[in-house]
Amino acid sequence: MTRIYAATSNPGKLRDFDVATGAEAAASSEAGANSQIRIEPLPGLSTIAAPPEDAPDFAGNAIAKAVYYSRFAPGEWVIADDSGLEVDALGGQPGVRSARYAEDAGFTTDGATTDEMNNLLLLRNMADVAEGRRQARYRCVIAAARDGGILQTGEGSVEGEVLMAPRGTGGFGYDPLFYIPALGKSMAEIDLETKHRISHRGHALRALMSAMRLR
Ligand code: IMP
Repeated sequence: MTRIYAATSNPGKLRDFDVATGAEAAASSEAGANSQIRIEPLPGLSTIAAPPEDAPDFAGNAIAKAVYYSRFAPGEWVIADDSGLEVDALGGQPGVRSARYAEDAGFTTDGATTDEMNNLLLLRNMADVAEGRRQARYRCVIAAARDGGILQTGEGSVEGEVLMAPRGTGGFGYDPLFYIPALGKSMAEIDLETKHRISHRGHALRALMSAMRLR
């Protein structure tokens, strides 16, 4: 069994990694492989000051986070994910700034969570964009590091469209607004196993595991 620590405090990402652990275990036993991975939250993460996330791309931020946090777990593999939504009609925004989209714009709404404010701002900025011109994709880079040295990275993406109004109650972040034409559902309407199969994070994790020869 190979243990990997995930350096994220985002509950949505942690849930995705938890489901990934189960799905990868099932896939490896089906394939007759005896190696199994187990992704667990990095112990003590909440007591560690967060590093700056100011790289211009997902890979730069993922690598910086993985290298930084790996120093807090000597000898262990630590992964960090940087991800976001790229909307064609907005020139690729919010992109690497997805988590801070509303904050960067100084957009606030009383009583709304960060995810809700980001979604409200996205809808507002796309109010004039017609159906059929609302293509977008989620992108994710996951980096693995050990003892302050980068080991590998894996990338993934999933194509979709930004809905005119939220749909579904699952997932996190922009999921209620992200429609997947191939499934006829929003990312907030699918179960987590399906999300792992088709999502940017699932693809990035499988690419990383292959690069690390863990799958
Ligand atoms: P990060 O912590 O800088 O990587 O922030 C990623 C941000 O992108 C999240 O806070 C969400 O707003 C968005 N995002 C990334 N992946 C997903 C996903 O799987 N579902 C919904 N939103 C996501």
